[in-house]
Amino acid sequence: MNPEELTRRLAAVRGVMFDIDGCLILSDGPSGLGGSVLPGAREAIDLVRNSGRNLAVFTNGSGQAPHQIADSLRGLGLDIRDHEVLTPAVVAAETMQALYQQQPLLVFGGIGMHHDFQKRGLNVVDLDRALAGEPTNAVAVVIGWDTDFGRDKLQVAAEAVLAGAEIYCTSDAPSFASGHRLNVGVSGFIAAGLSHVTRCPYRVLGKPSAEAMEILVQRLGVSAEQVLIIGDDLILECSMARASGALGILVTTGTNSAADAEFAPADRKPDVVVDSMTEFVELLSLVSEPSVPRAV
Ligand SMILES: [Mg+2]
Repeated sequence: MNPEELTRRLAAVRGVMFDIDGCLILSDGPSGLGGSVLPGAREAIDLVRNSGRNLAVFTNGSGQAPHQIADSLRGLGLDIRDHEVLTPAVVAAETMQALYQQQPLLVFGGIGMHHDFQKRGLNVVDLDRALAGEPTNAVAVVIGWDTDFGRDKLQVAAEAVLAGAEIYCTSDAPSFASGHRLNVGVSGFIAAGLSHVTRCPYRVLGKPSAEAMEILVQRLGVSAEQVLIIGDDLILECSMARASGALGILVTTGTNSAADAEFAPADRKPDVVVDSMTEFVELLSLVSEPSVPRAV
């Protein structure tokens, strides 16, 4: 993208989506709990907010509920409100409600998965009774961050799928950036295994799905072309931007490098590559006016 086109696109941005792990912070565990803030991240959040743009932070982790993630990020000095946090579990709950209303759903994961299903009053199958042999009649199996998924749960899930339930998964990212070592993904591992034993495909509802983008756009209250997506993963964030017409920026403090971006296929290529959130702040500052009067 040439400099004039980039300036024009940046000036048109009304909503910004930040990835969490590898973009705003580096932590040792999933879902942005704890960790350390990456340079420029606090300033980036403040710049977006003070320039009157809407913002969202969107992790593909489903281990924690949005308010828990927001609380953790605030504890690290990032000015994030509860309603600004999106997870694939939020997308899953909203999608399941639209597709299946009050039909029974088998949901695997902890509080991060169940919080939004409960909030919406969805008909989630009692797992203890299902594990005891009670028929589930589930129309969908939704796989999230379930570190206790063993043989018994696999049996229940597979029986539901073989009886006609669809398989959904929060994220099938193999890994995500962390402070000290590569963190492996759990939900994709389970979904791939369930798909293997049932010979039925699964559908991802987290980034970069169309469902995730639709809910992001609704939350930000702007059109897809007015959205800027910044993250450290070409497959999760840059492809979501590419598919939707949003402006896509890769920050190279996590999973993917500038060289990865250079050789990426067209459907994953970012519009811009920055080496830090500090560089992102410099870029966005060029087209940003504060919308609130400065204190004198
Ligand atoms: Mg990331």
